[in-house]
Amino acid sequence: MDTRELFEALFGQDIDPDWKVDAGCQEVGTDLFFPDEGEKVPHVKAICRACGVQPECLATAIATGEAYGIWGGFTHRERLGLIREMRAAGFEVPRWRKARRSA
Ligand code: SF4
Repeated sequence: MDTRELFEALFGQDIDPDWKVDAGCQEVGTDLFFPDEGEKVPHVKAICRACGVQPECLATAIATGEAYGIWGGFTHRERLGLIREMRAAGFEVPRWRKARRSA
């Protein structure tokens, strides 16, 4: 399931391929979105909550198996939890580790 398919499945509409143009993090820089392990980041998540392309960002991170940083307001660990819930609900989210090993 690629980003487009995942986004359509989750939100019932096409994803804008240029969604990053409207990314709320452009003005603050991306370093904030890659905190140290265990660092509390409510201020960063607040930026994501106010971002107009939060769903697109989160869907992209999930569909591409992004293992680092905060995307769509979710840390990697939180995305893994969300993916578990999505799989339990019947979504076919790819298993990137297997795919990367066999590539
Ligand atoms: S949701 Fe957060 S990380 Fe994603 S584009 Fe918006 S501000 Fe940036």
